[in-house]
Amino acid sequence: MRLTDHIARRNGKTLFSFELLPPLKGENFESISQTIDPLIEFKPAAIDVTYHREEIIYKEREDGLIEKRTVRKRPGTVGISAAIRFKYNIDVVPHIICGGFTREETENALIDLYFLGIHNLLLIRGDNPVGEKVFRPEPNGNHYALELVKQAVNMNQGIYLEEEIVNAHPTGFCIGVAGYPEKHAEAPNMAADIAHLKEKVDAGASYVVTQMFFDNAAFFRFEKACREAGITVPIIPGIKPLSTKSQLSALPKTFSIDLPEALFKEAEKCSNNQQIRQLGVEWAVAQSRELIQAGVPVLHFYTMGKSDNIRKIAESVF
Ligand code: FAD
Repeated sequence: MRLTDHIARRNGKTLFSFELLPPLKGENFESISQTIDPLIEFKPAAIDVTYHREEIIYKEREDGLIEKRTVRKRPGTVGISAAIRFKYNIDVVPHIICGGFTREETENALIDLYFLGIHNLLLIRGDNPVGEKVFRPEPNGNHYALELVKQAVNMNQGIYLEEEIVNAHPTGFCIGVAGYPEKHAEAPNMAADIAHLKEKVDAGASYVVTQMFFDNAAFFRFEKACREAGITVPIIPGIKPLSTKSQLSALPKTFSIDLPEALFKEAEKCSNNQQIRQLGVEWAVAQSRELIQAGVPVLHFYTMGKSDNIRKIAESVF
């Protein structure tokens, strides 16, 4: 079922969804099940599966020369999405990115997904490969998420890259896109970022999922600004419980977000990661309760592959 249909039928209740990462290459489906199983009783409306592009690594060879290699550490998004859908009979939302894909490869991936009965997509640009400052699309690849949305919307209208196809079957993807309550790192200002978000929605995206944030005020400001800009689709807040001390510097750096002073001060008092994890749960429970009170359609949780803390939050709020 389309995520927007779940939202339409929620009867005022806030739904639960979460995102997981494909495991590192060499692992099996068991590690995915270990993340999902503890969360099943909270009836997730959907499970997102992230996409991880290749990384460039440099290895020193025996002759002293440096060799540049491309490695993909977390492959398997399409296969994992299908496995989850068929094992759990839960709707999945694979993430599809621009980076590393030609438009042809994107089309083929979407065709595979559609044949597998996967009709929800989160379409994003993707991050730059580690060590590269500027995002570079593939030759004949999509540069911005907007172009990716337009490609999927074309397929929904039966328009494929090969123009000669006659009577082509339209797909029926429900398309989500990303939004940033604290602004995307590369955007010059919030208004410009929201204007680009609106372009994605106007092109055919049916809902927005936000980057993680730890201060609900940032989400409420963003939501208000989106509504004022004419974005009317559901906006789904993304929640990530703090779970290690190293995240105090890693999260702001990686995701271009702020940690509220009160959370930071409490985290500094923690002497180990177990205490941080507990603090992270308590903070996320408070955030979730306020967001539910405000009537958000779905609470979307970033698991980062571990679900014990998400389970504790879900037990408190659902
Ligand atoms: P876009 O919407 O293309 O925007 C990128 C930047 O360009 C923004 O600053 C925007 O304001 C600007 N912009 C947009 N259109 C234009 C234009 N026409 N001209 C000039 N500037 C423009 N990354 C992954 O690699 N894999 C994942 O699975 C993944 N999942 C994510 C899930 C969520 C919910 C979120 C919030 C992010 C996720 N990301 C993921 C990270 C995401 O790929 C990065 O944040 C990326 O840098 C931007 O993606 P986007 O789709 O928002 O890009």
